[in-house]
Amino acid sequence: MNTSDPEPTTTKPADAAAMAASGRPRHPGKGKKRGRKTARGRQVETQARNDVNSLLGERPRRRDHLLEFLHLIQDRYGHLGVQHLAALAEEMRLAQTEVYEVATFYAHFDVVRENQPAPPPVTIRVCDSLTCALMGAAKLQDTLTHQFDAGDVRVVRAPCMGRCAQAPVAEIGHRHVAPATLQTIRKVIEAGDFSPEPIQTRSLDEFRNHSGFAQLEACRSGGRTPQQVIDILLESGLRGLGGAGFPTGRKWGLVRDASSPRYLCVNADEGEPGTFKDRYYLETGHWQFLEGMLIAAWVIDAERCFIYLRDEYPGLQRVLGQAIAALEQAGFIDPGFVELRRGAGAYICGEESSMIESLEGKRGLPRHRPPYVAQQGLFGRPTLVNNVETLFWVPAILEKGAAAFATEGRNGSKGLRSFSVSGRVREPGVKIAPAGITVRQLIDEFCGGMAAGHEFMAYLPGGASGGILPASMADLPLDFGKLEQYGCFIGSHAVMVLSTSDDVKDAALNLMRFFEDESCGQCTPCRAGTEKAVKLLEREYWDVDLLTELGQVMTDASICGLGQAAANPLKSVIKYFHEALEEARSET
Ligand code: SF4
Repeated sequence: MNTSDPEPTTTKPADAAAMAASGRPRHPGKGKKRGRKTARGRQVETQARNDVNSLLGERPRRRDHLLEFLHLIQDRYGHLGVQHLAALAEEMRLAQTEVYEVATFYAHFDVVRENQPAPPPVTIRVCDSLTCALMGAAKLQDTLTHQFDAGDVRVVRAPCMGRCAQAPVAEIGHRHVAPATLQTIRKVIEAGDFSPEPIQTRSLDEFRNHSGFAQLEACRSGGRTPQQVIDILLESGLRGLGGAGFPTGRKWGLVRDASSPRYLCVNADEGEPGTFKDRYYLETGHWQFLEGMLIAAWVIDAERCFIYLRDEYPGLQRVLGQAIAALEQAGFIDPGFVELRRGAGAYICGEESSMIESLEGKRGLPRHRPPYVAQQGLFGRPTLVNNVETLFWVPAILEKGAAAFATEGRNGSKGLRSFSVSGRVREPGVKIAPAGITVRQLIDEFCGGMAAGHEFMAYLPGGASGGILPASMADLPLDFGKLEQYGCFIGSHAVMVLSTSDDVKDAALNLMRFFEDESCGQCTPCRAGTEKAVKLLEREYWDVDLLTELGQVMTDASICGLGQAAANPLKSVIKYFHEALEEARSET
């Protein structure tokens, strides 16, 4: 736990230099020790020191900004060299190992060791998560490797980029190509523009002209009390839509009742393969999301807000950065009240406690709980963590009333849900549908039916970790708490549809490889279990007894949800897809 971590210092470099000259450490009680550690490490070259100094400029050398500083170096030089890492450690008064372990934890940082060549200037990342794999990602990667992987270009695999409705997806530099083909990739490479694709958004004035921020202003001007807002949310049935489904009003109440200072962290790190609804809301309704966030901040009387945005959404980084600046300029928020932070390619940072570790500038290792982040979260303080979509709905619920939201829903469920639908349907995309809808209704009423030539065979109700169900179970209500009895869960409502032309065993293997890659490595059942499971699933004939036992150990003994749920797909195949297993058995 991190309860002993200091609040982030706001020390300016000039102040820091003065402290160093006076012999006083920047972090009382820690600086001297850290200085010695750095001195014992790699000697820092003058050039590297100058590079890092000029990149960091006047920015306070806050520990919690370590990821930001690593991004600055990587953006400027295309990789992280060990000399720059050593210089950064010296600049921040950290041990070199602390900087190195953070840099090597995140997939988007290219750490280049001594005597290693720097990566080529252009990287093509090809998504190999399940939907992209169904749509031919492996063949695409082979073709691209054959065509481009030499000289100035390299081709590598990558996990889900949150664009599954246009699969297969690739990214060149920061430019996403979806659907990606040899032709569309070649076009982008020839044009040479690898910056994020532009996103059209409304201005703050346009939003305000359409009643934007009216609910926030009503709260701030005394039109509502914080408790009234909490009561309305409770009545509406709004739940955490990042995957956990905890009642939003209750969570806000718990944090509001905790001691101050309190923080608000927005989890905009939707990394669950198949999930792209938060990207949709940020691209089409970022002002409404920001209004919801500021209402939450007002209710809990937050000291500051942090938005942790996944690095796979670089266009949104710019959109949100500009929006925050506009809010500061218009006087809605004080400068620095909202901090936008970039993730760095780690699925596990979608888990709230690892996101908080990452926000503190550390590796994204999930914390043991209790205490929960509502009690001890960011910098050891009570913290409200909400998902983007959850906050997006808040102003609309306050405007239209709890009943308008609560009356939506089927099969006893309340509210609307945003399903990210991908795979073998005619019209994939974000579908705003009643909570409790069945997958059959979702496909028929919202997705135009199955894709031409495809017969419905199976579906994943909740992304990579939510298990797999056969088409014969297509009439189950999709909502929190409704699928657990079948060994599945709805999670972030990422529905992936498979057809009879797909192999459910291959799907389970694809998912397990993803978990193997993304396991943070902190606990053995998950680290070793996912690795072992991949080896077993790669066999044509599955050893069902061994896999069942392994899956149970992972579920029972892993620290966090990743390891606990990683075996869900293989357990589902064993439970519901006997024919696929029998076929493989008869062929061996
Ligand atoms: Fe890390 Fe996996 Fe353990 Fe979670 S379950 S803490 S991801 S090793």
